Amino acid sequence: MNDILQLARPEIRALTAPSMQLNGAVAPIRLHANENPWGDESDAAPIALNRYLDGQPRALLQALGALYDLDLEQILVTRGSDEAIDLLIRGFCRAGQDRILVCPPTFAMYGFSAAIQGAGIVAVPLGPDFALDANAVIASWTPDVKLVFLCSPNNPTGNALDPTAVERILGALAGRVVVVLDEAYVEFSQEPGFLRVLSRYPGLVILRTLSKAHGLAGARCGVALAAPPLISLLAHMMPPYALPGPTVFAALAALRPDRIARTRVRIRQLLDERERMRSVLVSLPNVARTWRSEANFLLVEFRDASRALAAASQDGLLLRDFSRQPRLEGCLRITIGSREENDRLISALATS
Ligand SMILES: *Cc1c(COP(=O)(O)O)cnc(C)c1O
Repeated sequence: MNDILQLARPEIRALTAPSMQLNGAVAPIRLHANENPWGDESDAAPIALNRYLDGQPRALLQALGALYDLDLEQILVTRGSDEAIDLLIRGFCRAGQDRILVCPPTFAMYGFSAAIQGAGIVAVPLGPDFALDANAVIASWTPDVKLVFLCSPNNPTGNALDPTAVERILGALAGRVVVVLDEAYVEFSQEPGFLRVLSRYPGLVILRTLSKAHGLAGARCGVALAAPPLISLLAHMMPPYALPGPTVFAALAALRPDRIARTRVRIRQLLDERERMRSVLVSLPNVARTWRSEANFLLVEFRDASRALAAASQDGLLLRDFSRQPRLEGCLRITIGSREENDRLISALATS
């Protein structure tokens, strides 16, 4: 057994899901799952909705394997990467005993899922300019810390973490902790991310998602990438028919070569808009500063954040308020929209 699985909760290690093998039947007649035999004729869905999808759909694993250049055994499809975060915490943290380590300010879901599971939180704040403090992370590890969550590019600060600092943590804590590297925004970054070194680290889990760059937030399709034993452990925690057919169909469509090509073009457009927005925003009287971003949003500090929020909302524009969070005083997070949406926001903020 892979050493890293020793960190998992024993009752999770003991789980074995019922086998869903079809024993080679080409078009099996499904009389085993209590489904309704009739699809709705008027239903335009290209995937028969009267049927459950068994486990992990092979075609989707293959498309993701091609996209990330990984083996199918290194891939788990989840209902958004939020589900992968939840599976990891439930799989490794015993309620009331174990903890996760996070580097705030960062994505709130890590703390949310930890709270649901009754796992404690060790907070090792990001340093100046929101840089990862690898020494502090390594020094803060104790045996009850089962998972370290690193987010790069980080939400809501927008910066990518220094790959050398991430590798220092991976090396120093190897075998003692699972490092979860959340790369939800990596497609918008100069940094290539950590897929290329995944096979070097049996305790590394990389999270990707189709929600952001691939434009499928509503489909809820996330991906956990890790060594096969870890993927197998997480797979056993999912209910047998977890993935919705329409989600899988939408994901397969988004991974066709023509759609991938269009996604690349749209990423470029968003990056151009991001840099244009950044230069316009710094010129506004109410803006104190903007941070460089490697994601599809900007963190912006306002002299009067409530006035900016109010001006935006008066014109029907929603922004994310972080202005009362430590280290983010006065800050709002602005998602890069279409050119028209961005221009409208600029006009609203210009008078705030
Ligand atoms: C948006 C986001 C995700 C993706 O969540 P999904 O559940 O896949 O939609 C994951 N991590 C971070 C940091 C995010 O901002």
